[in-house]
Amino acid sequence: MKDILVSLLEKNRNNRFLKNKIELQCKCGHSEKITYYDILASGEFNIGKPIPIISPFISESIYDETINVSPLIFLKKCPDCGGEITSVFPVSLENLIPILQLQPPDPQMYG
Ligand SMILES: [Zn+2]
Repeated sequence: MKDILVSLLEKNRNNRFLKNKIELQCKCGHSEKITYYDILASGEFNIGKPIPIISPFISESIYDETINVSPLIFLKKCPDCGGEITSVFPVSLENLIPILQLQPPDPQMYG
């Protein structure tokens, strides 16, 4: 699954969505901003166990539809204290892949 993500990422280097930034904050007070792209391209994340959430597409007749989403958990070593900064990516794997697939492929081929 991670491989799919990484290859999609390569095709989406210029995707505007991936230029969003996330702020990482360590217990020691260190904080830094990193783009979605850098997080994912670093490969320093784990795909968490799927968790059920209530579907955002609930219709009037369905009250309890749940879907499973897999959180992306990002781990990074703090440059100040060496501790681990853990952060949950704001978009789940299931939602991220369609975002990356939406982008039309670049007409120019690179190698
Ligand atoms: Zn720290």
